[in-house]
Amino acid sequence: MSTILISGGTVVTASGTLDADVLVAGEKIAAVLARDVTGAGEAAVAADRVIDATGKYVLPGGIDVHTHMEMPFGGTFSADTFETGTRAAAWGGTTTIVDFAVQAKGTSLLATLDKWHAKADGNCAIDYGFHMIVSDVNDTTLKEMDACIGAGVNSFKMFMAYPGVFYATDGEILLAMQQAARSGATVMMHAENGIAIDQLVAQAIAAGRTDPVNHGLTRPPELEGEATSRAITLAKVADCPLYIVHLSASQALAAVAEARDAGQNVFAETCPQYLFLSLDDLARPDFEGAKFVCSPPLRPRDHQDSLWRGLRTNDLSVVSTDHCPFCFKEQKELGRGDFSKIPNGIPGVEHRMDLLHQGVVAGQLTLPRWVEVASTTPARMFGLYPRKGVIAAGSDADIVIYDPQARQTLSVATHHMNVDYSAYEGMEITGRVVTTLSRGRTVIDDGKYLGAAGHGAFLPRGLNQYLL
Ligand SMILES: [Zn+2]
Repeated sequence: MSTILISGGTVVTASGTLDADVLVAGEKIAAVLARDVTGAGEAAVAADRVIDATGKYVLPGGIDVHTHMEMPFGGTFSADTFETGTRAAAWGGTTTIVDFAVQAKGTSLLATLDKWHAKADGNCAIDYGFHMIVSDVNDTTLKEMDACIGAGVNSFKMFMAYPGVFYATDGEILLAMQQAARSGATVMMHAENGIAIDQLVAQAIAAGRTDPVNHGLTRPPELEGEATSRAITLAKVADCPLYIVHLSASQALAAVAEARDAGQNVFAETCPQYLFLSLDDLARPDFEGAKFVCSPPLRPRDHQDSLWRGLRTNDLSVVSTDHCPFCFKEQKELGRGDFSKIPNGIPGVEHRMDLLHQGVVAGQLTLPRWVEVASTTPARMFGLYPRKGVIAAGSDADIVIYDPQARQTLSVATHHMNVDYSAYEGMEITGRVVTTLSRGRTVIDDGKYLGAAGHGAFLPRGLNQYLL
């Protein structure tokens, strides 16, 4: 079994920082050696390879629990395959993704899962799991939810948005929540009032308001707040754990905070685009705003402060990307003259760790909290801990060596996602990934990709570890 010693670095975990060397044996972390106790020498002699991490952070690999690789949407597919998307993730220090298998109406959940395995298996550079999108609630689907859990998929996403596509009625949501509650599975919710939004969209189009900014204006934050409250109420009635995906609005955050204060099993994530981008980007001229169309939409800038505060108070527990890239040419352009036809999604799987590090630099997050929201909590929330999400003996050797002093500029010219624009073009970043290990294998090192499609393995997941 080959061994690697990562020496001289500062190990950062959710519980704090430690001057320690990390010994990797094969695919696992064998030991974390506090330098003031052990002295680096002995382990170094024994290791096959020594990585000098002096002046660097040594982090558990990032876990992005919300990605959409090659996802069908509006007659097209998101532009990253599992191969290109997981490679880009590794460049940015993410070593696990949890992607969404998407049930089409009239199909079964298990057939859907098979289909997503066929897309991902043998193609991923890093490990991966699946959530299941339930878009057709019926007796068969409800029974199949237990079989999905048996197959390592125990989080089910539903939509209060997108009528006619993924939308589920309150009654259907209640049935699925009751079913999930019987086994302890978590229901994930896209909480926007799609019925009301569709009316606002139709009014805007009829009035000739067709530019991308209208995507944001027809999905007001109040309708995210309302849907979030309704989802929380339904989950309470069903006694089902609830996880609000891509929370963007302070109204929705207030609803989550109130439920959490009352002791309900309600959790929420936000995404970097809601922390760093705003409605102003959607309003960029010459159809540029289409690059920033996602749902929920980018909000007026004053929502950002409450989201950062929510991350500090743990009312927002996770930051994922909702990575769903569509090229500007030919994909986003489908919505020229009608914003409602712009494919929804923003690329981001490569930049989550770097963008959140800017929160550390700016004093909005502590260093351990950065690791917690980007790795440790996602692992616990979705049943991957302690195999993932921590630097500890026995855990998978998913390790990122991060240079907190390095400078980089985000750009389509240098990113690795398979998409023809960057939502963060020109943004100056402090910090950068130097090395990414996935189960002991070097995937990224000093500006080179050394991984391989097919190294990444499917991760059957356990239940949410925050439930009492
Ligand atoms: Zn999504």
